[in-house]
Amino acid sequence: MQIPSGRILVVVGLLCAGASAQAQQPEQKLETQKLTDDLYLITGPGGNIALRVGKTAAFLVDDQIAPMTPQLKKAIAAVTAKPVRFVFNTHWHFDHTGGNAVFGGEGAVIVAHENVRKRLSTEQFSKMLNKKMPPSPEPALPVITFADSLSFHLDGEDIDVWHVQPAHTDGDSIVYFRKDNVLHMGDTYFSSGYPFIDLSSGGTVEGYIRAADRALAMAQPTTRIIPGHGAVTDRNKLKQFRDMIVAIRDRVKKLVAEGKTLEQVQAAKPTAEFDAAWGAFFIKPAQMVETVFEDLSKKR
Ligand SMILES: [Zn+2]
Repeated sequence: MQIPSGRILVVVGLLCAGASAQAQQPEQKLETQKLTDDLYLITGPGGNIALRVGKTAAFLVDDQIAPMTPQLKKAIAAVTAKPVRFVFNTHWHFDHTGGNAVFGGEGAVIVAHENVRKRLSTEQFSKMLNKKMPPSPEPALPVITFADSLSFHLDGEDIDVWHVQPAHTDGDSIVYFRKDNVLHMGDTYFSSGYPFIDLSSGGTVEGYIRAADRALAMAQPTTRIIPGHGAVTDRNKLKQFRDMIVAIRDRVKKLVAEGKTLEQVQAAKPTAEFDAAWGAFFIKPAQMVETVFEDLSKKR
């Protein structure tokens, strides 16, 4: 399923306008798609959600923007009466953790990489939104954190989680449902456009490429891959995404080494061959170049 262009505009509007505008979007809808007998994809204005339903409990990967929480609870209730026992956050961004306060307050155990808790519990500045993000209330914070990897063994399914080194942020995880053979990559994968690499949250271009390499190494040809935003795809599409980022990285790196300014690098159009396929989502070609330029120009 491709995201309709209207929804892309909503996402852009949310990301650009910030959390205060979210409450003014009451017409936004969630859609539920069955991927396997017990695994569902829930899509809407925020990040993609995986919902796994078992004999005793429901398991969520990410929980949308906060104003969608009532609708999300209805969407979950439409497929299971079981309580949400775990919420796993792929990273700290508000469009993936917006339901945390409600689910955590109702007793769900929120689990995430340790940097997700660090960022959610302290004031943050988002360069993309040009906005300070206040600390989240206690019930919204992960109560179990980890550094490298962990596994859930729940209702007959094994769910493996790996932290990938600073990619989209410094707290990203990818989540693999072994029996269902479904991989949720959070925002380390955008299947519809250029990646958003959040340098202000510790993301890096090199880490972003490594995250894709890690996912490619473990995914099989039949693995279904859920991106943070965009339609479910497979390994082939992820490989194209990874190769596109590598090509742009290589071109920008060469121009940076030649001492070119950002304006000169943008004028050289290092993304040109990819713009038709990847440039229409919310990260536009000039922004993609700026992010890669800024990251590669850092003194490390
Ligand atoms: Zn994100």
